[in-house]
Amino acid sequence: MKIAKEYRWEMGHRLSFHGGKCVNFHGHSYKARVTLEGERDENGLLVDFYDLDKIVAPLVESLDHSFALNAADEKASAAVAALGLKTTQFDGETTVENLSAWMARKIRDAGLPANIKGIAVRVYETEDAYAESSERW
Ligand SMILES: [Zn+2]
Repeated sequence: MKIAKEYRWEMGHRLSFHGGKCVNFHGHSYKARVTLEGERDENGLLVDFYDLDKIVAPLVESLDHSFALNAADEKASAAVAALGLKTTQFDGETTVENLSAWMARKIRDAGLPANIKGIAVRVYETEDAYAESSERW
């Protein structure tokens, strides 16, 4: 059995390695579909969506209208520090692949109910382009 819920936020970033226009500061309207897999409990619930929100909503709030910063990107670090921007720091480039893996790990580490045996986080960077990180245990 699987359940899923979608979350949206706005966020800026840049890809410091990129040879094209993604090297520039720009932003996306991100969407994440968080899918959990497991067995229903005695009430027929996999997980209460309210309880999923308690984990995911603060994460999304921390990202919303922030600048996703690769900590190794010294030029962008200097710029966001000079501007005093709200930032979310990552160990690595802020590709949608890395963002989906980061979100999946954060949600799993937040402590999911014992009946949950898998997670998939699909992060859309644009309406038609996404990366998905999934794990079963
Ligand atoms: Zn981008």
